[in-house]
Amino acid sequence: MQRVDVDLDVTLTQRVATAVARLEEVFGEPVWDGPREPVDVLIRTILSQSTNDRNRDRAYEELRRRFADWDAVADADPQAIAEAIRSAGLSNQKSVRIREILRWIRGTNGSFDLRGLCQMDVRQAMEWLGQLKGIGVKTVAVVLMFACGRDVFPVDTHVHRIVRRLGFVPPSASAEKTFWLMEPLVPPGKAYSFHINLLRLGRSICLARKPKCEICPLRSLCPFPGLAWSPKGTGGKAGGKKGNRVSE
Ligand code: SF4
Repeated sequence: MQRVDVDLDVTLTQRVATAVARLEEVFGEPVWDGPREPVDVLIRTILSQSTNDRNRDRAYEELRRRFADWDAVADADPQAIAEAIRSAGLSNQKSVRIREILRWIRGTNGSFDLRGLCQMDVRQAMEWLGQLKGIGVKTVAVVLMFACGRDVFPVDTHVHRIVRRLGFVPPSASAEKTFWLMEPLVPPGKAYSFHINLLRLGRSICLARKPKCEICPLRSLCPFPGLAWSPKGTGGKAGGKKGNRVSE
């Protein structure tokens, strides 16, 4: 069995910064493609749950094609919404949620213009939009990052899996806890790049079932499967030694 040296004797912040840089070397530095309407991103994110990007996009396009505007969706029969978004799966549940969300936004905000969200402090945005059932930290972070271009780092399934394997957060950390733990660790201005590149890594190399560690650009940073965690954030020392050796 091949073994690899893993240098954990650096601060957690340095390890995260190194991971960001290595992923940019391999995948490039993704560039944010400009502002979008927050409500559009929000509805797309609801549609994305438990499906792939292609089916989410098909459902979103069909929803926009069948209804004149968000007012029309908010006033529609859930069955009509469900028919439009069928390709995204769970259409009966999602249709009800989408209608509830749109009605809440219209009632609370007076319109579907959520650009004010972009100016809010992250915690304030979480509290405001988080009042809605089913809208968690990840969804709000996605809206702030993709729609508003904010330097906020969403923790989706891929990101959650990889940063736990890397030992950036404890193995037992929930996605929400991971969001707050990662917030001060991601280098300023790199949230978008790191998020997108971790998705690329998660889809191509750090797969859920069989990660391809032998070709991973983060291999020398990664204690997986012997996860290490230092609660003081000084860089975990699995085994307590620099150059911790990890079996592969
Ligand atoms: S070394 Fe393996 S477990 Fe660690 S990030 Fe890379 S693919 Fe994932």
